[in-house]
Amino acid sequence: PTPGLPVLAASHMRRSFGGLVAVDDVSFDVRAGEILGVLGPNGAGKSTLFNLISGTLPRSSGELSFLGQPLASVGARDMCRRGLARTFQHVKLVPDMSALENVAMGATQRGHCGLAAASLGLDRAEERRLLGWSQHLLARVGLADKAWEAAGSLPLGHQRLVEIARALAADPVLLLLDEPAAGLRANEKTDLARLLLELRADGLAILLVEHDMEFVSELADRLMVMNFGRLIACGQPGEVRANVEVQEAYLGV
Ligand code: ADP
Ligand code: MG
Repeated sequence: PTPGLPVLAASHMRRSFGGLVAVDDVSFDVRAGEILGVLGPNGAGKSTLFNLISGTLPRSSGELSFLGQPLASVGARDMCRRGLARTFQHVKLVPDMSALENVAMGATQRGHCGLAAASLGLDRAEERRLLGWSQHLLARVGLADKAWEAAGSLPLGHQRLVEIARALAADPVLLLLDEPAAGLRANEKTDLARLLLELRADGLAILLVEHDMEFVSELADRLMVMNFGRLIACGQPGEVRANVEVQEAYLGV
């Protein structure tokens, strides 16, 4: 996609759980080559918003379009095939499998090899190509030498990077990251920030949910802030941080 053009557009998105409105009339877009930060206190609806976008949770109402195509109700696998990849707030790797194999699983979600081919077993040439691609992505996130270590034995910072490599394996145009810096040490956060800036420079659209205001303010081109399911501010980081409602809702906590 052309830099600056919307990759995903959401309008009047809403999701309730019984009487609780977790996402309430949220509209925004995310553009190619930008990092859009999503901030908000615990329970603000950030993860629910991610689940609506990534097709893991049906919305109660509202519209979504992806690369200009309206999305009716689509599932997670379909969104992945269209070019959306995500990581999770709580890392979801297969702990007993190697970092490399975990990354390779991401590639089976889209493009070159279908899920069926993966579960039936690939031929040797395909398998080599897949592992080569996965190794390239591990190198990209700085973990070339960890390929054959069990994913579950890696420190949290590395596990999060493996998850990002797995998401990249699907060759996405939009990457959703749910609190990727949570629990990371300062040097790990620096590595993560550098990677995200490189991915942005490659033209990826990145939607970054973060709790760490400093981290996300430095990285994001634009910020949106949620509180009680509603979008209370969206704009340049400086402008958003100066917003009184944002300060009351978030910075004061
Ligand atoms: P955040 O990620 O911003 O911390 P969440 O999206 O996880 O917020 O949660 C928003 C609100 O929706 C919270 O009050 C949470 O308890 C509620 N919620 C989230 N998922 C569910 C669910 N599956 N069933 C019921 N309530 C939920
Ligand atoms: Mg969350």
